[in-house]
Amino acid sequence: MMARVREVRAEASSVADAIDEKEVVRLSQRLVRIPSIYHNEHRLGKFIFGMLDKWGLSPKFVPVEGCGPNVVSEIGPRDAPRVVFNGHMDTVEVMAGWKHDPFGAEIYKGMMYGLGTLDMKCGIATMLLAYRAIAESGGAKQVRFAFQAVTGEEDTGMGTWTLAESGAYKRSKAVIVGEGFGGLDEVTIGRRGASYFDIDLRGRAAHGATPEKGISAISDASRLVSALDSLRGRTSRDMKGDDGTPLSESQTVLKIQGGSDSLSVPEKCYVYMVRYSLPGLKDRGEREIRDVIRSLGLRSKVDLRLKTGVHRYRPYRTSPGSALVKVALDAIKDQTGSRPKLIYGLSEADDNKIARVTRAPIICFGPGESGELARYHQPEEAVRVSQLAPAARAYAAVAVTIATLS
Ligand SMILES: [Zn+2]
Repeated sequence: MMARVREVRAEASSVADAIDEKEVVRLSQRLVRIPSIYHNEHRLGKFIFGMLDKWGLSPKFVPVEGCGPNVVSEIGPRDAPRVVFNGHMDTVEVMAGWKHDPFGAEIYKGMMYGLGTLDMKCGIATMLLAYRAIAESGGAKQVRFAFQAVTGEEDTGMGTWTLAESGAYKRSKAVIVGEGFGGLDEVTIGRRGASYFDIDLRGRAAHGATPEKGISAISDASRLVSALDSLRGRTSRDMKGDDGTPLSESQTVLKIQGGSDSLSVPEKCYVYMVRYSLPGLKDRGEREIRDVIRSLGLRSKVDLRLKTGVHRYRPYRTSPGSALVKVALDAIKDQTGSRPKLIYGLSEADDNKIARVTRAPIICFGPGESGELARYHQPEEAVRVSQLAPAARAYAAVAVTIATLS
């Protein structure tokens, strides 16, 4: 068995070593230079499609409602279990405060600056070259490799959701998502789940000069918001979040809307909120929110509705002892010389959508930054260029090893 493991690792590192550092950097820059703010991913999708096509990897466009199409390529036997690379092409908008050109991909003192360098065009570029290296090495007979560049992640995750609904993860053996929070020092092996709720409050209108005759939906909503802010959920003993603190349930009110310019007691108010749940624990978020509403004895009528479909994010956890996690830790250590930490994502992402439709192990890692340099969704987003080739090689090594081993 050990000899077999050595053989597989040698094969995996020969595939990984074929990846050229200069090409990884150049491709990352080309992706950053094509704007792809969410819902407007079309041009970048065409570019990635063109690369895959040129390499003979028969890409396909998969239409996504409200966004540019996903670009998908698969190699290997049609019905074989899949090893999937997933990354999103879209970025957030250009925030105020940029000093470098957000679409320049300028390299200064070892950092590449640009919108999406961290989140996550360098992840896409490195996965793309890992995928090509696997294809050039002949792939594997008993496994199908898939590369997915998806859209709409910064919105509702519509791109990955579309693939999940179409059965793209059905026979998957392992899923690797290229979101590299913390860079190659960290591997995300689970995430909190997120449920979104609409809450409508209906009070009773009256003249604004006689508030005692009406029921203010805004006043009731404000009491509800305060109560939700002080609601404390459960905390996990053994899972740490990407901020280093123990993973806990929590909720945030995202929006409150109500009232008018007329001199009237507000009869309507709308509250929008998210509730985070923990992997491995039964989600009792909705029940707890209903209990809060009941305990306040509000005079407004309150209607709480859970948003379903694309708005649901299932929590998940991939066992730290699973073959995929072990293989990833070894492959990354081979590249960087140090063993990454295992962490759990506080925020929801595309891997939660994938976890809804497959029991296959899922991990996320890739080029990224932590601490001061973690300028995700911020101006002056930048990534250390030196980690790009190691990331691409680690992706190739993980995929080839897991495909051949188990
Ligand atoms: Zn991202």
